[in-house]
Amino acid sequence: MKKNIPYRIQLSQEQVPSQWYNLRADMPVSHDPYLHPGTLKPLVAEDLYPIFCKKLVEQELDETTRFFDIPDEVREIYKVYRPAPLCRAYNLEKKLGTPARIYYKYEGNNTSGSHKLNSAVAQAYYAKEQGLKGLTTETGAGQWGTALAEACNYFDLPLIVYMVKVSSEQKPYRKAVMETFNASVVPSPSETTDIGKKILAENPGTGGSLGCAISEAIETAAKTEGYRYVLGSVMNQVLLHQSIIGLEAYEALEMVDEYPDIVIGCAGGGSNLGGLIAPFMRDKLTGKANPRIVAVEPASCPSFTRGKFAYDFCDTGKVTPFAKMYTVGGGFIPSPSHAGGLRFHGMSPVLSKLYHDGHMEAVAREQSKVFEAAVQFAKYETILPAPESAHAIYEAMEEAKRCKETGEEKVILFGLSGTGYFDMSAYMSYKNGTMTDFIPTDEDLERSFATLPKVQ
Ligand SMILES: *Cc1c(COP(=O)(O)O)cnc(C)c1O
Repeated sequence: MKKNIPYRIQLSQEQVPSQWYNLRADMPVSHDPYLHPGTLKPLVAEDLYPIFCKKLVEQELDETTRFFDIPDEVREIYKVYRPAPLCRAYNLEKKLGTPARIYYKYEGNNTSGSHKLNSAVAQAYYAKEQGLKGLTTETGAGQWGTALAEACNYFDLPLIVYMVKVSSEQKPYRKAVMETFNASVVPSPSETTDIGKKILAENPGTGGSLGCAISEAIETAAKTEGYRYVLGSVMNQVLLHQSIIGLEAYEALEMVDEYPDIVIGCAGGGSNLGGLIAPFMRDKLTGKANPRIVAVEPASCPSFTRGKFAYDFCDTGKVTPFAKMYTVGGGFIPSPSHAGGLRFHGMSPVLSKLYHDGHMEAVAREQSKVFEAAVQFAKYETILPAPESAHAIYEAMEEAKRCKETGEEKVILFGLSGTGYFDMSAYMSYKNGTMTDFIPTDEDLERSFATLPKVQ
């Protein structure tokens, strides 16, 4: 029995990592190369310069450099809201009656409310450093737009966010936060782009879609001098920045002489999971330890568990390169789900490769069960979790219940990627019993696989 472990294991400010860790340097086999969507040849850096900042392109394509220095300016902002706490879920353990020791790394302690700020700050910094004049992006549920608005405002960099029109109507507070940070929020489709005008002409009443918002963000970046478009998940650069989550968790666990038997995270595009597991996966790949690593995805958008390992676009706007990943197909339209951040069709190429080669597991869970876990967690641990993060909570609780049956004192670590304060309509729908579970049929998936690019 371990004694004297505090509820919150708090690193000091000096312990905020000074380098990001690039898991790719320790992968026995790299992920298949990105392909140019026009020529189908493996990408070179020059192909990416029109899309991403130079420094980010280097990070994107680097599979040998193990550590990247975090620029001082970025680390200074990290210090404002980091180190993020690693918490011991004593109350939850007690309620479950489990001998397992449960830890979670909480990333919701900043205004954007999630881990996304970790990469937004880095991306905004490199854009400013390169002398860019502004950025564009899209946001569906709103978390990425909020994080990037906060980061761009800090570096005095203009930002245009195309927000899916229905979301901007359903989540006016998200829009208000972005505007507080001086971002221009444009409900999409809009009259500001050719594609937006075309879609509005064809379908004046449309509520928009993520694909359309992406296309508008990309068109605006392409036609505005000095602007670039940025992405908040999936890409290697984002996983690199998010490694700060895992590095801190690793160090904090070391301080209390613990090591996880199981590491669990929710997976949308894979960035919080990829960041959390990075140093633990390193240990696994180098033979130092052998933790189980588990991705939890929504049953409504099951990229790992029911998707194909195939080349696909990283964005529905079809300008980013082809990546080999687990995907349900860019044409997949996920049924309504309250975990907006998990509705992405594909999955990080790095995580896809690790999963394909048997280094990690994945499960898909239904949202009503996930919300039940979210509500319990909120009661016992005083944090109202984001619906996305609740997928990891659910799975951690299931593992802890198994330990109760077997009597095993396992150490479980999970990622609590954000807060649920902007998701109260989801909690309302859970509470009043109108929440339903959508699971795509095999036919739905086949239809969507048919939209995969023919490069396999
Ligand atoms: C966006 C988001 C996710 C999913 O994105 P990943 O890139 O898979 O991490 C998970 N949790 C929260 C709170 C989010 O905002």
